[in-house]
Amino acid sequence: MRQLNADLHLHSRFSRGASPRMDLPQVCAAARVKGIDVIGTGDCLYQEWLEELESNLQKRGSCYVLEGLPFILQCEVETTVGGRVHHLLLFPHFKSVYLLRELILEGGYSKLTSGRPQLKIPPEKLADLTQAVGALVGPSHAFTPWTSMYAAYEGIVDCYGKNAYHVAFLELGLSADTKMASRLAELDAYTFVSFSDAHSANLDKLGREMTRFLVQDGSFSEIDQALRSVNGRTVLLNVGLDPREGKYHLTGCRRCKTAYTLDEIIVNGKLLRTCPCGGPLKIGVKDRITLLAAGSNQISRVRRPPYMHVVPLLEILKAMKRSHALDIKQVYSELIDTFGNEIAILVDRPISDIKERYPRLAAIIERFRNDKIDFEFVGRGGWYGKIRL
Ligand SMILES: [Zn+2]
Ligand SMILES: [Zn+2]
Repeated sequence: MRQLNADLHLHSRFSRGASPRMDLPQVCAAARVKGIDVIGTGDCLYQEWLEELESNLQKRGSCYVLEGLPFILQCEVETTVGGRVHHLLLFPHFKSVYLLRELILEGGYSKLTSGRPQLKIPPEKLADLTQAVGALVGPSHAFTPWTSMYAAYEGIVDCYGKNAYHVAFLELGLSADTKMASRLAELDAYTFVSFSDAHSANLDKLGREMTRFLVQDGSFSEIDQALRSVNGRTVLLNVGLDPREGKYHLTGCRRCKTAYTLDEIIVNGKLLRTCPCGGPLKIGVKDRITLLAAGSNQISRVRRPPYMHVVPLLEILKAMKRSHALDIKQVYSELIDTFGNEIAILVDRPISDIKERYPRLAAIIERFRNDKIDFEFVGRGGWYGKIRL
């Protein structure tokens, strides 16, 4: 068995808001530098991209490979009936992708004219379709206040109905981590994954969140078994941003940035929507989970793999540059040359190795590994949190 770092939620240049330079050579190069061993294709239901994937990826054993990097056929879709919800889909092979395209087009659910298509069906129906073609489905960034399962629904059964049992994983997203999500006992049966949702191959986006699997190789069948924790395959580690960095961690005002507690915004049993300053209030992920958990008296008792908080190495170097002169590009490539890749530096190499040549950086990374990071500003109301280094 091998430990493989996977980032299985990407977008191609055919998704709205994605970089026009998001193509396969860029993805391969970035994955190598980041230390990602298995990567999602993004947008595989989109015809032009699908053709590009088919003519570039080669079948090696049970894996699809380009430049030695295994790819998993992957796409994000939005269901629009019952609220807008994003879902992540993983496919075993090209035939399965083509079959789902046919079902969607024949049903008239979408014309599939964008990288992340909108389907005029409820999530339960989407799960019927993915089952029919042997693909896996799970909610993307399940807690974000827009276009997510918990934004539109009160729970996973509410969302996927009779198919909740077939949901293969739950993607935590940038604004939640395992500790937060574990407060919801209804999720006990589900495997948590963390992926980047990268819209470009930039080194501060691709691989900023990843899941480490214990598997034989980077094929769909191995990932599928690991998600179900069968035959010795499993998830070993989740790595991602500290939720306090997310734009919607606390409840807060978009205009004046004031943060509010739940007590302050529940008035006569109703949630306030407007700040005294007149700006719009957005309920934060932390409070949303508290409200959801309050509806149930169950306590989660599941043992889950650790979740490690990191930020991209480039962001750390940028923050260091504020107090000391630093050639970020040069130091970054020196670091990668010395240690192999970014995940090795942030997650795996002994701190003592890094300390020898980079004592200040080593001290910061050690604080991340021990979860001792302070925040100058915790994210709220659409404003990113800011770390104090
Ligand atoms: Zn999404
Ligand atoms: Zn305000």
